[in-house]
Amino acid sequence: MTVSIPFDNTYVSLPDGFYTRHTADAASHPELLAFNTQLAQDLGITGYDDTEALAQIFSGNLVPEGAAPLAQAYAGHQFGSFNPRLGDGRALLLGEVVAQGQRFDIQLKGSGRTPYSRGGDGRAWLGPVLREFIVSEAMHALGIPTTRALAAVATGDTVYRERALPGAILTRVATSHLRVGTFEYFAARRDYDNLRRLYDYAVQRHYPDAKDPTEFLTHVIDRQIDLVSRWMGIGFIHGVMNTDNCHVGGITIDYGPCAFMDGYSAQQVFSSIDQYGRYAFGAQGNIIMWNMAQLATSLVPLMPDQDDAIDTFTTLIHAMPDAFNAAWLRVFAAKIGISNPTETDRAMIDDLLSLMEHDRADFTNTFFALRLGSARDQFINRDAYDAWHIRWRDRIKDLSDANAVMAQANPWIIPRNHQIEAMITDAVAGNMGKFVHLAHGLAAPFTENPAFADLANPPTADQIVHATFCGT
Ligand code: AMP
Ligand code: MG
Repeated sequence: MTVSIPFDNTYVSLPDGFYTRHTADAASHPELLAFNTQLAQDLGITGYDDTEALAQIFSGNLVPEGAAPLAQAYAGHQFGSFNPRLGDGRALLLGEVVAQGQRFDIQLKGSGRTPYSRGGDGRAWLGPVLREFIVSEAMHALGIPTTRALAAVATGDTVYRERALPGAILTRVATSHLRVGTFEYFAARRDYDNLRRLYDYAVQRHYPDAKDPTEFLTHVIDRQIDLVSRWMGIGFIHGVMNTDNCHVGGITIDYGPCAFMDGYSAQQVFSSIDQYGRYAFGAQGNIIMWNMAQLATSLVPLMPDQDDAIDTFTTLIHAMPDAFNAAWLRVFAAKIGISNPTETDRAMIDDLLSLMEHDRADFTNTFFALRLGSARDQFINRDAYDAWHIRWRDRIKDLSDANAVMAQANPWIIPRNHQIEAMITDAVAGNMGKFVHLAHGLAAPFTENPAFADLANPPTADQIVHATFCGT
């Protein structure tokens, strides 16, 4: 049986200005490294036991029937400065499938140069491909809206990133690849016909009930606030929340220098290129407001009265800090077992986080241990923790209710940077054992399982990863 993907493409029907039709570069010796059979099944893909065919398709060597490969155009503010033309410089949309009432993009990442590549080589190396595979699937299992990983293929070609590295391609699946930067692309060109078409397309795909750009913007803001507050609740740092990496459907997209925190620090930055901490852990709530302001600006030309639109949108953006703080409170209150937080609970959460920050207590393990009654062990300054614990127990009326809330909010394991780095080192040497172990363990991150006990270990001093690199 041959591989069959039930493509049903719509983006390719948009005007030429939205994309460039393009095919992938050939891969010399494609080898399938990982394939997400459950996701394939959910997408209605059949014949996926033919691994040879999968390697050919997901390396871009073979264009599957029904695919219409293209590179999408978009712009974006990168670290605050506007680039009017980014686009898929190393990615290709193969096409879309409809499954379970939802439309999904299937995209190759690392498949060679496109008209949007600028100085880049259009390729990816094994490390970032496997990192995105593990982290995006872990995010999904953690209940965070995200792109998914369908396949990882080694190309057999060499990619140069300061040194020679094995090339690879990730196939990712997303509810779309519409970014704030896609809107900026047409708005900046004053191409309002296509801006309107993009808007109509995005409404249909993400918010079919939105009656006008104001409702559309309101939806995107709500989803982004929800998303970023949830990121923070699991200690996730995106690392490059540029507007081209900010999805209008509110899913996590573009895992570059992303990382999960080990020891808690609000100022934690991982990206080697984020010198000023623009995208630090604790700055993520602010940056989402900044990004939404860029989306709002791009939507103004679609409104009948521009001055009114500016007033209305400004009001929406100005309401974001309160909305974000409320979402943050809900997320962090759940982490200490409170499902209906009041403002007075905020101080208790802040105080715990301060103690954690002071002692660099492990973010994941501290919250997980709270339910077990052993959080104290995570602290150096145990007297201070004990005092907090007494306050907390006073607030919690029913411990078993609180434990049930915490069980949903506090994962046992997350993809830790040092484990991912060790996995990549092994994979480069041809050993995929750690990859398989991480993928299996992280599929059920809330449940303690002795088979994956090693995944709960924070890094030792010499294992700490201080920066993840954009060299994707
Ligand atoms: P990112 O920082 O990964 O979101 O990418 C920002 C922009 O750079 C996008 O337009 C990418 O397509 C482009 N880009 C990143 N890496 C490469 C590469 N190796 N070759 C070509 N374009 C790239
Ligand atoms: Mg990007």
